[in-house]
Amino acid sequence: MSVVMQTNWRSLAQSLQPRNQAFIGGKFVDALSGRTFPTYNPATGQLITQIAACDAADVDKAVQVARRAFDSGIWRDLKPTERKAILLRWSQLIREHLEELALLETLDTGKPIKESVSVDVPSCASAIQWYAECIDKLYDEVAPNGPSSLVLVTREPIGVVAAVVPWNYPLIISSWKIGPALAAGNSLILKPAEQSTLSALKLAELAQQAGIPDGVFNVVPGLGPEAGQAIGLHPDIDAVLFTGSTEVGRKFLEYSARSNLKRVGLELGGKSPHIVTKDADLEKAAMYVAYAIWYNMGQTCNAGSRLIVHRSIKDQLFELMRPWARRLYPGDPLEPTTELGALISAEHCDRVKYYIELGQQEGARVAFGGRQILQETGGWFLEPTVLENVHNDMRVAREEIFGPVLVAIEYDELEEAVAIANDSEYGLAAAVWCRDITQAHLVARQLRAGTVWINAFDHTSINAPFGGYKQSGHGRDKSLHAFDKVTELKTTWVELH
Ligand code: NAP
Ligand code: MG
Repeated sequence: MSVVMQTNWRSLAQSLQPRNQAFIGGKFVDALSGRTFPTYNPATGQLITQIAACDAADVDKAVQVARRAFDSGIWRDLKPTERKAILLRWSQLIREHLEELALLETLDTGKPIKESVSVDVPSCASAIQWYAECIDKLYDEVAPNGPSSLVLVTREPIGVVAAVVPWNYPLIISSWKIGPALAAGNSLILKPAEQSTLSALKLAELAQQAGIPDGVFNVVPGLGPEAGQAIGLHPDIDAVLFTGSTEVGRKFLEYSARSNLKRVGLELGGKSPHIVTKDADLEKAAMYVAYAIWYNMGQTCNAGSRLIVHRSIKDQLFELMRPWARRLYPGDPLEPTTELGALISAEHCDRVKYYIELGQQEGARVAFGGRQILQETGGWFLEPTVLENVHNDMRVAREEIFGPVLVAIEYDELEEAVAIANDSEYGLAAAVWCRDITQAHLVARQLRAGTVWINAFDHTSINAPFGGYKQSGHGRDKSLHAFDKVTELKTTWVELH
């Protein structure tokens, strides 16, 4: 029997005592102001705990210890094999604490325990492992410059890096920043989203156990306009790796311009088109269209949230999606068979409901779902929803809803489908379903998106880069390309004659 079926999650939840202090310089500490903020369980609406609310003073303290650790060389000057061994130990400890980490993630975000156990925690451990394994395999360069000089091109850690992350995949997205930043030898300050701090604090405990030196990895919980802004404006942070909304990403560019021109990596929102042609394998496409929008309650940056479907097959596709909508009906996230949980907060649930209402005012029809459910639990649950009769100029087709709401737009000619797909300020991901692989590939080449799937959606691997075109951001997470955001290239010119 699998871990998810074997464990008694409810009794484990009762005995759990989540950490709620900041982790700075190797110590768990209260915020200097003594202030706290609450975190709630989205499936019950109940308070889990109060967490240290860090502000500019705590951020400054964290930057000072991170800078001291960096300058001391205690981490960056370790032999590559030694740094690798410590990060590998950390990833192993994450695996050994699978149940506790998964439970913290599920209680804090409302995502099903099945997903936390099988996806979120293992992906986090694997990302840290993958970057650890890179450390002693990445070579520097020698520029070809003739016999009179030796021109070395070496990568150096940039210094103090901060990661500011959202609440939808706290462990996974944090690991995409932690992995390359620490593997490269930087010090790191992680600011989790206010709704999802608990798993980051457990990671910190395990980091220390693994032997990561004090000051190299820090966690400063707090609110965006306080801790987040203080990070953006701090004069001694060299790079910020941000994942979140386009609106806040824009702020980080402003913070950088107003302070020390720190490097800013942006992984932002999306409104990813999912094109289904009349030549598609409809049975397969139906399952993927369903998961692409409803997985994680639609709270996924690259969710396939705009279905662009050939007019002649729309009804057939919808019929094939109905069993998936039933299977993905939300339930208690602690129930091992539940596939869809709760939305992150009451405010967010209201925002998604507002869009369902707005779509109808704009002329769309509800084809699936549309209602808030399970209100007796105190949690925030919505039915898997599809709006049909949507045009690409409606707000529901242009703005990121970030909930389980698919908008369906019909097309007649393939060129029209491509034009609709590209008519968006976002460009994070896209997919096309088409058995004719030449045709599919020609469409893929025209799609302006950081990831394009042909006859799939959301298939990922840590060794493939991930990030956006246009206002979905710039720079890439994952793969070796992620090192570009956290390293400097140094040219050392040695004259030989
Ligand atoms: P968000 O509101 O932009 O918040 C992201 C982070 O920024 C949080 O830690 C937040 O802190 C902080 N923040 C908020 N306001 C700030 C400010 N004024 N100054 C500095 N920091 C601030 O995003 P979210 O609601 O957590 O997550 C949803 C968004 O993330 C969606 O747009 C989604 O598409 C995007 N996302 C993108 C990717 C990607 O890889 N491209 C992946 C996942 C999610 P608080 O928690 O305290 O607000
Ligand atoms: Mg929470």
